Amino acid sequence: MASRRISLGMPTPRRTDETATELPDTSERPDTPALADRFGREATDLRLSLTDFCNLRCTYCMPASGLTFLGKKQLLSVDEVVRLVRIGVERLGIEQVRFTGGEPLTRPDLEEIIAGVASLDPRPDISLTTNAIGLDHRAARLRAAGLDRINVSLDSVVSETFERLSRRPLLHRVLAGIDGARAAGLDPIKVNAVLLPGVNDQELPDLLDWCLERELQLRVIEQMPLDADHIWDRSSMITAGDVHEMLAPRYVLTPVTEAREGAPAELFEVADRATGRHRGRVGVIASVTRPFCADCRRTRLTAEGRVRTCLFSREETDLRGALRSGADDEAIAGIWRAAQWGKKAGHGMDRADFVQPERPMSAIGG
Ligand code: SAM
Ligand code: SF4
Repeated sequence: MASRRISLGMPTPRRTDETATELPDTSERPDTPALADRFGREATDLRLSLTDFCNLRCTYCMPASGLTFLGKKQLLSVDEVVRLVRIGVERLGIEQVRFTGGEPLTRPDLEEIIAGVASLDPRPDISLTTNAIGLDHRAARLRAAGLDRINVSLDSVVSETFERLSRRPLLHRVLAGIDGARAAGLDPIKVNAVLLPGVNDQELPDLLDWCLERELQLRVIEQMPLDADHIWDRSSMITAGDVHEMLAPRYVLTPVTEAREGAPAELFEVADRATGRHRGRVGVIASVTRPFCADCRRTRLTAEGRVRTCLFSREETDLRGALRSGADDEAIAGIWRAAQWGKKAGHGMDRADFVQPERPMSAIGG
């Protein structure tokens, strides 16, 4: 079938990191407005990082000393974020937007950003991934601005373990944030947990119990090699298989029957093994051992406005430069489409030649 070359509408920008190359050859790209790639996938789900700054120092994400954080002028402004999301929903078929970071609540203008995105037509589904510190004071305003859903990261409900993992004694503030989100009517509230061997893995059955009691959906995420300290070890990481083994003495897990539809979490109904009582659901995100790349519907923007087609990309494509040099919407959409066309088939974490990305998770946007 004949294919047409798309017009990007402006000079081709260069990619921006250590493996900088020209944008991919788009001569085979079908003339579709969608964010298509060479493997038949179309991205409808945007993860947008609002900052690389964070007030915690989770060991699997940030070094103890922090990082050299971006300055205010390097971050996308409220208007720039809203414009990029508008281009995404109006021209590229984006349906869902998740704000992340770093810690998105450290941006005082988060309510403004959410209100701007909520006023778009078509209006995307708007969600937030956060450590919940300070959420108790802002949840009602965020909800009023248009926030639909929230995921809170919480790896332990034991103060000592929380501090060991996050290097900050702030468990009480996270718990207050969850209470605030509930009081504001945010529903569902999902809890993300990363398990580290010998640190919090033994707490998993209790953590699940704690979540089920509060009608929070726990999602256990396999640790990925995206930490600044490079502590990830494939041979000792806690796998989805380990999660099932650790939960089996106390719970019976049955796969849910609904289609997964590109969602990263495999969901299970949870019943108490002793009584058979149904308790709720748990999710397992097995990015390492059961990758879901073939169904990936994601595109990413870093806090300084670069397209990253995968967490594990070693290439990024700058949109902020085009935004700030007066490019029109279609030109920006064209650069984004071309970048997405270069998305790789998979993350390659299990390959011998896998190289961890330069940037840690906090700087990419988890
Ligand atoms: N600060 C917010 C938070 O913690 O929710 C948003 C950013 S954080 C980078 C987003 C998610 O990435 C969190 O749920 C966190 O647990 C997860 N994460 C960070 N580093 C990870 C790693 N190396 N492997 C797996 N998940 C990771
Ligand atoms: Fe901060 Fe989230 Fe990374 Fe923890 S996981 S250091 S809360 S960005």
